[in-house]
Amino acid sequence: VQVQGQFFMVDCGEGTQLQAKKYGVKLSKIDHILISHLHGDHFYGLIGLLSTMHLYGRKKVLNLVCPPGLSEIILIQMKHSQTYLNYKINCIEWVPNEPQLVLDLPKLTVHTIPLHHSVACSGYLFREKPKMRRLNAEVIPERLNVAQIIALKNGEDILNDDGTIKYENKAVTLPAAREFSYAYCSDTKYLPGLAKMIQKVDLLYHEATFMEDMKDRAENTFHSTAAQAALVAQSAEVKQLIIGHFSTRYRDLNLLLDEAMLIFANSSLAREGEVFEIK
Ligand SMILES: [Zn+2]
Ligand SMILES: [Zn+2]
Repeated sequence: VQVQGQFFMVDCGEGTQLQAKKYGVKLSKIDHILISHLHGDHFYGLIGLLSTMHLYGRKKVLNLVCPPGLSEIILIQMKHSQTYLNYKINCIEWVPNEPQLVLDLPKLTVHTIPLHHSVACSGYLFREKPKMRRLNAEVIPERLNVAQIIALKNGEDILNDDGTIKYENKAVTLPAAREFSYAYCSDTKYLPGLAKMIQKVDLLYHEATFMEDMKDRAENTFHSTAAQAALVAQSAEVKQLIIGHFSTRYRDLNLLLDEAMLIFANSSLAREGEVFEIK
């Protein structure tokens, strides 16, 4: 996930490093890794990635947001392989079953979204903070200094020496861009109550391991169907839905997409390498 120049890795299965290389994702830019739960397909790539960051000479602190127990797993692996990382990991272990603020950064926040899976599992809600007003350069006749630019972006007027208004803010700036939001809902059984935690997000990723013909199987294995993912999207009134985490039994993923689209039209498949941009 990329937000205003900040890079987040959300879950880290085997093969993550190969895919990062293939799609040109710079590992050195990633300052935050968020793990949803401790099933192998969501974190078995992590130790390798942490070691690679070390070998590449990383010095910056890495924020690791994760379920309880992951720091212990990492420490044991590092201890017995006598690996000493040359950077610090700031481990933020969340409490299961309650929404919690886990990252409060200058431009955005990330909260956990408690899910219902066979082990402790949380999704993540990314929300941009209010943005600054934008300068309308076309109507400003002179070059402004940095202090003046910051003042205008903060919504203040620019004054003359005698205290009269030189540039009225509204006349020379445009409204701030809207704040965007993204909800990542990892492995979970159908949770109708999820909708109220992710109301009106711009983009929702929701797992869809099965189709409705395997509804019982989904229930028993704490997973969802494509239709259930779409129902969550519909009742949360999100703008766009991405479904993923498909069972390998489905050769034709369009069947899952069709099932979702019958309920929520603006649905897409999370295909390998696909990029979704919120504008
Ligand atoms: Zn799982
Ligand atoms: Zn999984």
